[in-house]
Amino acid sequence: MLCQAASNWRIPIWILDQSPDFPASRLCDRFVEGNFKDYDDVLQFGRQVDILTIEIEHVNTDALEQLEQEGISVYPNSAALNTIKDKGLQKLFYRDQQIPTSPFQIFENKEELLNAIDVSINIPFVVKYRTAGYDGKGVQVVKKATDIDRVGDLPMMVEDLVDIDKEISVIAARNPNGEVITFPAVEMEFHPTANLVEYLVCPANISTSFNTKAKELAVEIIQKLDIVGLLAVEMFISKDGHILVNEVAPRPHNSGHQTIEGNATSQYEQHLRAILNLSLGPTHILQPSVMVNLLGADGYSGHAIYENIDECIDLNDSYIHLYGKTVTKPFRKMGHATVIDEDLSKARRKATFIKDNLIIKA
Ligand code: ADP
Repeated sequence: MLCQAASNWRIPIWILDQSPDFPASRLCDRFVEGNFKDYDDVLQFGRQVDILTIEIEHVNTDALEQLEQEGISVYPNSAALNTIKDKGLQKLFYRDQQIPTSPFQIFENKEELLNAIDVSINIPFVVKYRTAGYDGKGVQVVKKATDIDRVGDLPMMVEDLVDIDKEISVIAARNPNGEVITFPAVEMEFHPTANLVEYLVCPANISTSFNTKAKELAVEIIQKLDIVGLLAVEMFISKDGHILVNEVAPRPHNSGHQTIEGNATSQYEQHLRAILNLSLGPTHILQPSVMVNLLGADGYSGHAIYENIDECIDLNDSYIHLYGKTVTKPFRKMGHATVIDEDLSKARRKATFIKDNLIIKA
């Protein structure tokens, strides 16, 4: 989607990733086969470009640091990435900066966790492996003693289980001149079992004071991490009325997909504007929207087949994005659909129709 935005301005984009089968290879000017976790691959690739950006935080940051020293513009910067990609360091950053977040402790291994239970930590709690996982894959909720059996022996950050009223996200953008702008807050509704975003509703149905606070936090964090580009700030609003930062992602994010059709500037164009040091675009909502992730159906792995696309494309004001991943897996994000409508309940009905009918099997 970043390549699609770049093509409007004919900005040549090079991509580094593992296989030319991956969707971006068909949309970029040059695809370089390599591993973004490998020092040499990233270094060699980065030395050939003017501006380097990322779409996943688990890249080789030692190589990015070297490239920064060689004068390449790396956005976001490697130090911010190091803080963000380790959930322990990220939480320590919030604590140091007095940014509201749920109370937490860091443990090197499972034994340390077991020793702390009933001493400094009580069930229920949430375990997050410090560096493993995304889309909820490295997150385990411990609600009863037997749940502890499933906790792995890895460095972890353990935090209080928040009684969540709403999950929201605000995406901030910042350019090298220091100009900052935020997108309106969106509400995220999670899939009951897959632990990833199922529906996203824009605008979020939250009070003005939560809206203001959420934006202020997003601006504060992007400035303090000195990030150029986008920063998605995921927050919880707790049932007892607190706003807590859960985690951030320094890149185009799932919680900004609806901006393509719903907002004055898409998150992808905004990211390009930011890293190219152009003025940032207006972010206001053109139409309220509901976004639904199109996930691989449970029980199917293999070459992707899409059922009932015609009926879904027939719906008015519905925009279907299929990413062209060749292989589907249960709950893999294979695409998304955005429905715009002044009446959010109508948008939701159409989004649900698409989710229930556009089945991705193998
Ligand atoms: P990931 O990086 O894998 O997306 P998150 O930290 O966003 O992991 O957690 C995934 C989801 O798990 C959250 O969106 C939320 O629904 C739930 N969750 C995470 N942390 C907590 C918490 N402390 N209390 C309650 N639920 C949580």
